[in-house]
Amino acid sequence: DRTRNIAIPRSDKKAYEEAAKRLKLENEREKEMVIPRLRIESRRKYLEKRKDDKVTELEADIIDDEYLFDKEDLSEREIFDREHKKKLLSLAKEHEKARELENVQRYRMPQDIKDDQMEYEMEVDKAPITEQQKWEEEQMSSAVYKFGAKRKEKEQYELLIDNQIEFIQTANLPGTHDEEKSEITEKQKKKLSIEETKKSLPIYKFKKDLIRAIKDHQILIIEGETGSGKTTQIPQYLHEAGFTENNKIIGCTQPRRVAAMSVAARVAEEMSVKLGNEVGYSIRFEDCTSERTIIKYMTDGTLHREFLSEPDLQSYSVMIVDEAHERTLHTDILFGLVKDVIRFRPDLKLLISSATLDAQKFSEFFDDAPIFRIPGRRFPVDIYYTKAPEADYIDACVVSILQIHVTQPLGDILVFLTGQEEIETCHELLQERVRRLGSQIKELILLPVYSNLPTEMQAKIFEPTPPNARKVVLATNIAETSLTIDNIIYVIDPGFCKQNNFNSRTGMESLIVVPISKASANQRAGRAGRVAAGKCFRLYTSWAYKSELEDNTVPEIQRINLGNAVLMLKALGIHDLIHFDFLDPPPHETLVLALEQLYALGALNHKGELTKLGRRMAEFPLDPMMAKMLLASEKYKCSEEIASIAAMLNVNSAIFYRPKDKLILADTARRNFFSQGGDHLVLLNIYNQWANTDFSTNWCYENYIQHRSMRRARDVRDQLVGLMQRVEMEIVSNPTETVNIRKAITAGYFYHIARLSKGHYRTVKHNQTVIIHPNSSLFEELPRWVLYHELVLTTKEYMRQVTEIDSKWLREVAPHYYQDRE
Ligand code: ADP
Ligand code: MG
Repeated sequence: DRTRNIAIPRSDKKAYEEAAKRLKLENEREKEMVIPRLRIESRRKYLEKRKDDKVTELEADIIDDEYLFDKEDLSEREIFDREHKKKLLSLAKEHEKARELENVQRYRMPQDIKDDQMEYEMEVDKAPITEQQKWEEEQMSSAVYKFGAKRKEKEQYELLIDNQIEFIQTANLPGTHDEEKSEITEKQKKKLSIEETKKSLPIYKFKKDLIRAIKDHQILIIEGETGSGKTTQIPQYLHEAGFTENNKIIGCTQPRRVAAMSVAARVAEEMSVKLGNEVGYSIRFEDCTSERTIIKYMTDGTLHREFLSEPDLQSYSVMIVDEAHERTLHTDILFGLVKDVIRFRPDLKLLISSATLDAQKFSEFFDDAPIFRIPGRRFPVDIYYTKAPEADYIDACVVSILQIHVTQPLGDILVFLTGQEEIETCHELLQERVRRLGSQIKELILLPVYSNLPTEMQAKIFEPTPPNARKVVLATNIAETSLTIDNIIYVIDPGFCKQNNFNSRTGMESLIVVPISKASANQRAGRAGRVAAGKCFRLYTSWAYKSELEDNTVPEIQRINLGNAVLMLKALGIHDLIHFDFLDPPPHETLVLALEQLYALGALNHKGELTKLGRRMAEFPLDPMMAKMLLASEKYKCSEEIASIAAMLNVNSAIFYRPKDKLILADTARRNFFSQGGDHLVLLNIYNQWANTDFSTNWCYENYIQHRSMRRARDVRDQLVGLMQRVEMEIVSNPTETVNIRKAITAGYFYHIARLSKGHYRTVKHNQTVIIHPNSSLFEELPRWVLYHELVLTTKEYMRQVTEIDSKWLREVAPHYYQDRE
């Protein structure tokens, strides 16, 4: 019979070869795919037949197998495979359950994060506190406007969207523009020429005054509403005013990679030059500048590193520290460094540019430097809150977007999510809903924006929306102030962002999703009022805004691990960190912990001076632990392998691709890479397999791996190997030996060790309870001793990227640390 023909046992050489030919598979490696491909083919046919049934792919696969083959026909291996698949299915289902729990729990507005006594029982959403309830009821009775209140429209969209969210308006962000005249129509009608756009920016009118002020003062604080043209225009004005003469260049720092790249691209376009020539950018692992470059955008971290090779910033005539209000760690440290350089370089101009926050504070820090204010313009923005807390903000975003789309006049929507994963989830959910609604609604153009976004996608965000369509931009914090997207009328703000947090008391570092500050919430809302009166929908209650959001975001320097920063400062010859000129000094204990960690890693001697190892570590633009891991790989004769692992860890969250409709298949593919020993070796395995296919795109596609991320890993790896050669490391490989690889990893990450006892993992350093992330290859194995790459706190403290180690190694790789403690 015909179906049976499809599955050819591999032992039947001739039939097998024929099938391979039919599928046009020529080399041996590709032929490995014969069986899976034929299976897929047969399953597809089978699924078509019963497309109304709700069978998942793996389930279908199993049913399919059982339907097509009798047990007697199968080899032992195939019977084993079948059992294996069944086990996978049940695991996959469990895994999904765990994930769901994780998601639901994470979307609560936590009142505070108790780092000390984590509760490990999943608790169900508590009933609203009475005070909150009361307050909300009061608000409700006074609220007059409800979302989509027009009766008729409401009925219409009720048919389209179920589970709508009720919003109430209780606040308004006043505009600086009195007339509510909308600019959007003119702007949309014709795409303004570049010259016209430049002239329409608020900063344009102040060009002359600004240049005058810069000539008159060495340091100038520039304050202006986001989108007024600071980042894109000031360097061009300076160029026109002659600041790039005598081989000097203009530098401008950005806290985010995407911003640096995208802004440089825009400025290159405005100046009609090729990106990388006169206008370029430089970010970690990517330098897009040349001899000709006169305007250089870079991340603050990159400039920080440039101090190592050019401590007086001799090549620059002007340095702009942009987005200063973001207060990233690197920007904060740069403040101290540039303030110092300025004294020795009377010819160097320093501009500190910020959104309308903190200007006074910057001025005071820079010896009362004058503040140049660019009056912004903003239309009023109405602010809506949800009536009740939303359990799942991704879902709430999807519903709100559709609600806006069917009830509100055209105008683009900007949605703030916390990271790439969330953006992708939201994107898929929306696509699905939009597909189901079909022609009942107008066109929605969905555009994601996050830090790893490929360059070709970045340009799309700025393309004008076609008539009769609506653009929905799904962005991370990056759209809060770093990037301005024109024509946004509606903002959806779930109220969260992802933050790197370091507990200075326990020394634990983790990535967590936290509520934003009021200042952030208002910046986000402000994005809706650039071209016309706008609306901001906050997916939290007005009560939550008032009582659960902090006024301002705590600067990074006061909440993250300073190991990296301290190493850099030491490498710059700055020894007395306690008296370094900080805008806001870090907590004393954080500094001490950083010093202690560097000492344990062998980067500092007991006098606090940089050792030879420390000097080599500082050459790598990496966290000290990772730098140490790389350097240790020399001793363990596995530098090739460790370079691959380090590169993969640098892109780690974005390696697997999990389309919503193929979750189980994707997870199965992921499981196929599982290797003895743990996740670091899984990453290595993936990299090596990919390298063996000659970096094939197809291979990635077939294995649910993101090709883009792999390409990036390859780039990062090339650069790491370059740096390893620069510090004169021997590049060696030992592909059969995993113990040495794991020892090298341990040599860097011995702070990140947890031990299993009575069914729980506890960190060795602080005795904190942690658990292995469900995505890990060791999720079911529970080895006694594990090393983790990072902790991610959602409802639990999860260890991500986990590897099994032997406790005996610890003394060997970290004598400073593990012997001193005994
Ligand atoms: P600011 O730094 O004051 O926030 P910007 O200089 O970033 O302002 O933005 C000025 C204008 O340039 C905005 O209208 C923004 O939309 C536009 N712009 C910035 N980058 C791009 C880009 N890559 N493509 C098109 N327009 C851009
Ligand atoms: Mg800017």
